[in-house]
Amino acid sequence: MSLMPAPAAYTGRFAPSPTGPLHFGSLITAVGSYCMARAVQGRWLVRIEDTDLPRNQPGATESILNTLTVFGLIPDGPILRQQDRTSLYEAAIQSLAERDLVYGCACTRSQLAGRAVYPGTCAHKKLPLDGHVVRLRVPDQTLAFVDRIQGLQTENLAQSRGDLVLRRRDGIISYQLAVVCDDAAQGVTEVVRGADLLDQTLGQRWLGRCLNFPEMQYAHLPLAMNAQGQKLSKQNLAQPLDDGQAAVLLGRALEALGQGVPVTNDLSTMLDYAVSHWQTGNIPHKVCLPNTYR
Ligand SMILES: [Zn+2]
Repeated sequence: MSLMPAPAAYTGRFAPSPTGPLHFGSLITAVGSYCMARAVQGRWLVRIEDTDLPRNQPGATESILNTLTVFGLIPDGPILRQQDRTSLYEAAIQSLAERDLVYGCACTRSQLAGRAVYPGTCAHKKLPLDGHVVRLRVPDQTLAFVDRIQGLQTENLAQSRGDLVLRRRDGIISYQLAVVCDDAAQGVTEVVRGADLLDQTLGQRWLGRCLNFPEMQYAHLPLAMNAQGQKLSKQNLAQPLDDGQAAVLLGRALEALGQGVPVTNDLSTMLDYAVSHWQTGNIPHKVCLPNTYR
């Protein structure tokens, strides 16, 4: 009998925000995270990141879930909605508060206007957390990790942004806190997501460490850029995915991820092929798309 614990099974996830329907950029992330999990016989979960209530669009969650089904991207567990999980996030803040790792901040938006780095004004005022912004203390030291696709990343959080916001004055939980708590609660072993979140990662890793969560791996997929060099996003009106073109779009997403695409119009054959031939090492750092893809 071996005394070595069995390695944790791979668990990946796709975690869209319901701010609109999926577009081609988000399809790349969904397909990439799905195939990377399936290629190692891992689990793949879907979570709806809807803590930022004012930004949620009615019907978007249903539209996203429907599109994933049409593309054959079926999760291995129930779909989590962050809105239902506030008590978990509050418990995390409580645990940090007990160890004096967070504090209340009374600075207004206008007091901080024009500053990229929070100067720590309230760090030692011992203000109550309720009714104030809740900030996490960050260390003045260079943190590092190696991203599986984007390579070595380093950041000194104290110098680049200052103490991190975990909860807004109005009680809304920050994206950072929700993501870190949910990834740990769901047993995620590798976070696969778009490279637009790469610069949030060292802050999230620091928060996870403060909460004594297990360390996880990261793989940041390339962002899809249009021919003008703009990122595909809801803000620049990337087209919603046409469910009727699922096989064509899946082929394009696999191509964008540097993977081989079999000659077939059958969606499940295509996905099976992608999973069994998956090569993470072939994923490019950046993807440029012809305008016709929009
Ligand atoms: Zn402050």
